[in-house]
Amino acid sequence: MTVNTRHTRAVRAAIGTDTAHGAVVPPIYLSTNFTFAGFARPRTFDYTRSGNPTRSQLADAIADLEGGAGAVVTSTGMSAVTLVCQLLRHGDTIVAAHDCYGGTQRLLRSLSARGLFRVVFADLTTPAGIAVIAAERPAIVWVETPSNPLLRITDIARVAAACKAAGARCVVDNTFLSPALQRPIELGADIVVHSTTKYLNGHSDLVGGAVVTADAAVATDLAWWANCLGITGAPFDSWLTLRGLRTLFARMDHHLANTHAVVELLQRHPAVERLYYPGLDTHPGHDVARRQQSGFGAMVSFEIAGGTPAVERFTSALRLFTLAESLGGVESLVAHPATMTHASMDAEARAAAGIGDGLVRLSIGIESAEDLLEDLRQALAASESVRTVAGVTCVTDRDAASVVLIGAGTIGRELLAQVTANTRAAVVPFTICGVADRSGFVCDASGLSPELLHNVHARKWGGGSIADAEGAHSGTAADLVSHLAAHGLARPILVDATAADTHDLLRHAFSHGWDAVLANKVPLAEDQERVDALWRDAHENGCRLRHEATVGAGLPVIDTLHKLLEAGDEIIAIEGCPSGTLGFLFGELGADRPFSAALGDAVALGLTEPDPRIDLSGIDVARKALILGRLIGYRGNVDDIAVESLFPRALDGMSRDVFLRRAPELDAEWAVRVEEANANGCVLRYRARITQREVAVGLVPVPRGSPLAALSGTDNQFSITTARYDRQPLVITGPGAGPGVTAAGVYNDLRALSESRSASLLLTT
Ligand code: PLP
Repeated sequence: MTVNTRHTRAVRAAIGTDTAHGAVVPPIYLSTNFTFAGFARPRTFDYTRSGNPTRSQLADAIADLEGGAGAVVTSTGMSAVTLVCQLLRHGDTIVAAHDCYGGTQRLLRSLSARGLFRVVFADLTTPAGIAVIAAERPAIVWVETPSNPLLRITDIARVAAACKAAGARCVVDNTFLSPALQRPIELGADIVVHSTTKYLNGHSDLVGGAVVTADAAVATDLAWWANCLGITGAPFDSWLTLRGLRTLFARMDHHLANTHAVVELLQRHPAVERLYYPGLDTHPGHDVARRQQSGFGAMVSFEIAGGTPAVERFTSALRLFTLAESLGGVESLVAHPATMTHASMDAEARAAAGIGDGLVRLSIGIESAEDLLEDLRQALAASESVRTVAGVTCVTDRDAASVVLIGAGTIGRELLAQVTANTRAAVVPFTICGVADRSGFVCDASGLSPELLHNVHARKWGGGSIADAEGAHSGTAADLVSHLAAHGLARPILVDATAADTHDLLRHAFSHGWDAVLANKVPLAEDQERVDALWRDAHENGCRLRHEATVGAGLPVIDTLHKLLEAGDEIIAIEGCPSGTLGFLFGELGADRPFSAALGDAVALGLTEPDPRIDLSGIDVARKALILGRLIGYRGNVDDIAVESLFPRALDGMSRDVFLRRAPELDAEWAVRVEEANANGCVLRYRARITQREVAVGLVPVPRGSPLAALSGTDNQFSITTARYDRQPLVITGPGAGPGVTAAGVYNDLRALSESRSASLLLTT
């Protein structure tokens, strides 16, 4: 009887072949060498590098499962890649997928740099990439599908046809799926490569590789080269891999079932901004994957809202998924491509390849699905403490709060990006009903459609105006409020993401009973009487005003102050650096960077206002300090605050570009100040100090051991000394700058307002 199913053939590979003792499972032949049957009468095997019975059994089994004519088992996946390179001759060209495994890319680039052949990288998932094959007439085309980590799909049959027409060999790295789910030779490929380290062995306890060929003569040629190079696989590893192979299909079934459950969870989870899995019908390669694969695989990638900090929390909170590279084992793994598998690429190259800082890759194992889901749920929840507005979706729930966004600059756009990034499930109880910029507005009392929001977002990114969007109205933000107020909007909330004087607009919104969330500092940093009038209006109209994002952006500093006050504590002083820009600048100066270079970096990284002198003037810090001061009883105005400006008046009055060009003139003076501080065991910090009586903002040397000295990057810091925390102040440090965290602060306020209408969150002075 011929055994037809691959599943059965995998289980039974070489079973019952031992003629010496009848061992059911084939024995391991660890022997280095084999006796000759007699003088000049070698047996099948003579020396293990060139041939070994255990390795042969594995090679036959893999060739059989892949539908090939022969196979060579190598010591690692990379030695399998190296082996295939022996088919290239001097002057040949190899066209390789631009996102193939990093080790493969490194080998191809290094060998081509030594002049052994030419390598051309192309995106083989696109017709233009496939056209490169006809143009280059390569000897080999290297395909890897699905690719790592974005799981992009290449149409093997199309590439193989293009190879045939161009006289090229089509090689497919089938590591990510194994022959259980994809058989490239049946689709026209000439050669299949494996890192058997992954699914074929399946237990993460060895490294190995294999090359399978459609043509037996090519396998013979490659076996000769493998012996010549000395890269054949070890017998013990071959035996283990053969043992792993027996359960390949059973494992794959389990891997797929678990992956299905995980994808379902991730799809609905608000912390997941974007999901990459070929099984999703929204995945660009879904149709091809459906056609050429018999399962969508057990690798899943996704972007977590909140970038690297959120990933760190997520991975640290995971209990079952192990943080490690590699894939395809029975155990579930998690990897962060930006700091692990793809860390050798610079940030720009990673961004161009679509590998963001928030991208996470999972290799789903065969543990209980329930346990895996539980683990992911709790770790995603942990990641959400730093998430931006991920998962916000336009819901048409009757109870949903109605949000009207004023301002579509960086912060407004960030909010919109998050909203439009996820149009799947209803996860947050609010609906975006209007968006305005200076040119006009779009609105719909029952909620703007995801398409329109997407359009507005794209238009603003392109530098356009809302007034040009389809169905837009020209008019002011106040017109928008009146217009929607007339429609009796459900639970309206105005989000002020402008940097303008919106005092009148806010009072107008309060007069209609709207709540408000501010990312804009201006209305709260105006003269005391006007700010008092604003709070009074809100109070008298029963409106709530939240402004967590005005100071420390995404840090819960204002919330903390309220909690302390509510608990009857008395705030004595707040001290710290509420400016990511100035925090960054002095961190760099402390690391011996010239002032002009540090400032240039801050500008290039987008950390400054368009004119960095606004940041250097300290006015922004003064406004934030004033807002905090007023929360604890300070009654002065911005003009009463002692503000130290960091640029000499001599360089005032010139254009921004001239100022930046002349900034090196300040380097020597700054170097002296830094050195002076150093000599006294201090570092320089731009600090705000706030008490009920006095607010001061300026440069101070702080002792090296103090919390403020430890501030790094663009983080903000607030030390709060209270009657209860008098010896050891409460310190809040964290990312307080950038549109991402500011949007997160706005989001937290929005969620608090949309979820609890009854709770009193009115912050009055
Ligand atoms: N091919 C792919 C797709 C891989 O992911 C890897 C390793 O991660 C390799 C080849 C190289 O395999 P090895 O690490 O066994 O040398």
